[in-house]
Amino acid sequence: MLETKTLCPDYQFIQEVESYGTFGAEACFQCRKCTNGCPVAFAMDLLPDQVIRMVLLGQRDTVLSCNSIWICISCETCTTRCPNKIKIAELMDGLKEMAIQAGIACPQPQIRTLHETFLKNVRKRGRVFELGFIQKYMFDSGELQRKWNNKELRYDLKLGLKMAAKRRYLFKPSKINGKDEIREMLAYAFEKKNKP
Ligand code: SF4
Ligand code: SF4
Repeated sequence: MLETKTLCPDYQFIQEVESYGTFGAEACFQCRKCTNGCPVAFAMDLLPDQVIRMVLLGQRDTVLSCNSIWICISCETCTTRCPNKIKIAELMDGLKEMAIQAGIACPQPQIRTLHETFLKNVRKRGRVFELGFIQKYMFDSGELQRKWNNKELRYDLKLGLKMAAKRRYLFKPSKINGKDEIREMLAYAFEKKNKP
C-alpha cells in the first residue's frame, strides 16, 4: 500500500485537477465499478476509485507520486463503467501531466520513457515506425541492458522473428501524407499544455 504523504488536505487540488480537463471527479460516490473492471488494478498501488478519493481529499503528494497513474493503460473500461460518467482514464492522463510539471520522480521510469519515445517517433515520421520505436525504447529505458544481463533478450528476439515471419511489422518506415500537419498538432498541444 502506498504511503500517504499529505495529511493536511489541499482544497485547491480538485480545482487544479479539473482545470486539466472536465473529468467530473466530484460526482464519485465510491461504488468501485471502475476498479472492478480495471485490467491492471492488480499492479497499482492505489486502485482507480482510491485515486479519485485521494483527489477529492486533496492528497496531492500521494496522488501525484503513486504508480497507478503510470500503470493505467488508458483502456477506458473504467470510464465506460462509471455510473456517474466520470472521465477516469482522462483524469489519469491529467495527473501524469501534473506530476511531470511538478517535477515529481516517476515511479515507473520505463513507462515515461515509452510515452516520450512514442511521441518523438510520431513527431519525426507522422506515425509510429514500430521497429525503430522499440529499438529506441530498449536503449533509452535501459531495458536492453537489463534483459541482456538477465538473459531474457532471446525471448524478445524469438518473438520478433515470429512476428516478422507473419509480416506483423515493417522493416522500413512507410511514408504518410500530412506529416507537417501532425507535427503542428503536436506542437500546438505541447504549447497549450505548457501555458501557465
Ligand atoms: S465507477 Fe465512478 S462513481 Fe464508482 S467509484 Fe469509480 S469513479 Fe466513483
Ligand atoms: S483506463 Fe486505466 S484506470 Fe481505467 S480501467 Fe483502463 S487501465 Fe484501469
